[in-house]
Amino acid sequence: MYLRVLGSAAGGGLPQWNCGCANCVAVRAGDPAVRPRSQASAAISGDRQQWFLLNVSPDVRAQIDSFPALHPRRLRDTPVGGVVLTNGDVDACLGLFILREDQPLVVYASEAVERGLREHNALTRTLERRPGQLVWHRLRAGVAVPLIGAAGPSGLTLEPVAVPGTVPLHLKGLAAPSPEDNLALVLRDARGRSVVYAPTAAGSTPELEAHARAADAIVFDGTFFRDDELTSLGLTQRTARDMAHWPLGGPEGSLRWLAQLPCRRKILTHINNTNPILRDGAPERDELAAAGVEPGYDGLEVEL
Ligand SMILES: [Zn+2]
Repeated sequence: MYLRVLGSAAGGGLPQWNCGCANCVAVRAGDPAVRPRSQASAAISGDRQQWFLLNVSPDVRAQIDSFPALHPRRLRDTPVGGVVLTNGDVDACLGLFILREDQPLVVYASEAVERGLREHNALTRTLERRPGQLVWHRLRAGVAVPLIGAAGPSGLTLEPVAVPGTVPLHLKGLAAPSPEDNLALVLRDARGRSVVYAPTAAGSTPELEAHARAADAIVFDGTFFRDDELTSLGLTQRTARDMAHWPLGGPEGSLRWLAQLPCRRKILTHINNTNPILRDGAPERDELAAAGVEPGYDGLEVEL
């Protein structure tokens, strides 16, 4: 099984177009200690022939361009056999509308996420220009399914796990909250190797912990280091926890949880542009290293 981090930033990317925080300023100035990052997504494959996108970020076009394994092999073609959505946030789904050029794709999503995308949304019609353009597969928390793309079986299984999250901002008041608003994905190959992909999580659960303990690798929510990261900059009244993200640092932080997992690789993704871990040499990087946790970056590849 192969996993490639296509994008490692939270919504907005690094730099974010309307952000003048220290990290965004440093990237624009060409500071080598802070690398630019696109918005969170990963590609996974069992055979390096057919690939699946784990979330489809607004940066998907550049992300496909950046990875030759995803380039077309013929006049009209893609090695992308399908996509898996962990939630219905704009950051996780907007790229689906960018992949609108009449390409057959399989989409795996929970009922809550599928309804959020297809109801009250005229743009969805661009993905339904003809029957079969998109084939939707319903994900149910705790139910493992074979991962099958437009080009056939992948050899991988996909098990979604409900994790604490929130209804997407644009659906507040339109859709009732569902335990399947936010999923972690457990991807397993025929040899029993597994990776947990959980780019957004407000906390852990016994189910997530059990899968994470059995996994060879975990790619986890690294959005914020501190709960007050945005409030202390005066950007919002909402803390990291209010936004359904588990901050990394502190006695109750996710680094403590990640540190005790036996996984060989523990990688952070969906890192917000304000997060101090984005700077090489930052003291917060020492806390990551002590926990055996790596900051993800665009282009990072893991073979299991
Ligand atoms: Zn910024």
